[in-house]
Amino acid sequence: EEQITTKCIGKKVVYFNEVDSTNVIAKQLGKTPGYHGTLVLAEQQNAGRGRLGRKWSTSKGDGIWMTLILQPQIRIEHASMLTLVTALAVNQGIRKVTGLNSFIKWPNDIVMNGKKVCGILTEMSTINEKLECIVIGIGINANRDSFPDELKNTATSLKLESKKEIDRVSLIASVMKYFEMYYEMFKKEENLKEHVKDYNEMLINRNRQVKIVGNDSEYIGLALGINETGALLVQTDETIRGERKTVIKTVMSGEVSVRGV
Ligand code: ADP
Repeated sequence: EEQITTKCIGKKVVYFNEVDSTNVIAKQLGKTPGYHGTLVLAEQQNAGRGRLGRKWSTSKGDGIWMTLILQPQIRIEHASMLTLVTALAVNQGIRKVTGLNSFIKWPNDIVMNGKKVCGILTEMSTINEKLECIVIGIGINANRDSFPDELKNTATSLKLESKKEIDRVSLIASVMKYFEMYYEMFKKEENLKEHVKDYNEMLINRNRQVKIVGNDSEYIGLALGINETGALLVQTDETIRGERKTVIKTVMSGEVSVRGV
């Protein structure tokens, strides 16, 4: 079994048998100084959530349901980049521990054979427009054997993919190690300059057609990869004053959803 060998990230663990949501507990703890790097872990979540209040399905004892608390001195506008830092760390951890190739679906999911194996939900709390804490929820379907009907075609677990039981402690330790490394790279200039190459190599959408669905428009284009802010660069054709032109759009996370075509 791998031990947690980080300096700070995941050094303190708060462990629960059952909670409603590890993100809710983490946000509560994160109000008190001194919790930077603390990991909240639970065997079961009774009210796990995804983005936009969507439901996150969990099972007891066979998943990794955890939330990392950060209390960083960074600009609020830069917080969303931590979702990509996390995706990178989780993907590396999964590859290391399973020996299988998982991929990142921009910006925040990890997929294997086209199915979601992990979701990441970053939330932050502020007081007087200052950042109090950032919590990063990570849900990994580790040793789950089956999914409810509505997820059968879109979700999978590491065990289903590798046909082996996963050592959850090793995976958590590995993710923490990669996170600390990528987080320190991020902290230097608060950008993803040094992550772009690794991220794009593991990006499932890269060089594929994607459909960008925004609030009031949608278009199809070729995903080229992320830039140093974490935006997805998408090459598409546009008609500008009657002329057909190839343009590169900068797609920010949060405002759109990306689908394979
Ligand atoms: P996305 O970012 O892909 O839009 P979210 O981050 O909002 O999705 O996650 C919630 C969605 O993930 C749910 O609507 C459901 O489709 C899917 N989902 C829920 N639980 C699981 C799970 N355990 N494994 C994989 N997918 C799940």
